[in-house]
Amino acid sequence: MRDIRSSSLPTQTSLSGCPLSEVRDKLRSAGLRPTRQRVLLGWMLFGRAHRHVCAEDLFEEATKARAGLSQATVYNTLRQFTDAGLLRQVHMAADRAYFDTNVQEHHHFVVEGEGRIIDVPEMALALTEMPTAPAGFAIAGIDVIVRLRRVDEA
Ligand SMILES: [Zn+2]
Repeated sequence: MRDIRSSSLPTQTSLSGCPLSEVRDKLRSAGLRPTRQRVLLGWMLFGRAHRHVCAEDLFEEATKARAGLSQATVYNTLRQFTDAGLLRQVHMAADRAYFDTNVQEHHHFVVEGEGRIIDVPEMALALTEMPTAPAGFAIAGIDVIVRLRRVDEA
């Protein structure tokens, strides 16, 4: 496990790396002051490919990286990122809130009992009919959750 204090900056991967300066820009353009905690968590969230994460996992990651962040800070920062439109909360019937770094509209597979979330490939799910919103409401978005259960492979 790399200690982020001893190495200067996390090395950028050739895939979809996002250096710390890009994280700062991302935060600023979302109207958030790039504090140390936000930049650190932002880098963990947005520095690589899109991911789904819950506060508990992110806190554990931050602890392993010796980031010195409290659980409350991790929760609050996830909430602030979501309010600023940098994260999307994945609504699933579970006791944990999951956050998605992909804020584009897309659907999810959820593995029941594991809390694991997988993106449904684009175009793999077609909604042919939209419900009419009740009076006084407009549809803000559609999130479909396709639940999965494991089967024994014969
Ligand atoms: Zn997703």
